[in-house]
Amino acid sequence: MNFKKCVRCGCFFSSVDEVCPNCSPKDNFEMSKLKTFLVNQVEEASITDIIKETGIEESNLNRFMNNKNFMKDVNKEKNNIHFNL
Ligand SMILES: [Zn+2]
Repeated sequence: MNFKKCVRCGCFFSSVDEVCPNCSPKDNFEMSKLKTFLVNQVEEASITDIIKETGIEESNLNRFMNNKNFMKDVNKEKNNIHFNL
């Protein structure tokens, strides 16, 4: 099995994920926080604003924003909201 280095804490672990099992709950928590923020934002917020509002570290934030599946989820929810208006 391949060992990977956790992008959050730097520890080595064996998994297909980017983060170790210790950090995965933090990742999930921040992703749902970011998702809520992005779905509900009225105007496009800057990275600085998002960091200020969510408290997510920039490196993690960039990682989430580059996550295609995550962003697809965000856009899907955003469209749902606008559709229901
Ligand atoms: Zn970790």
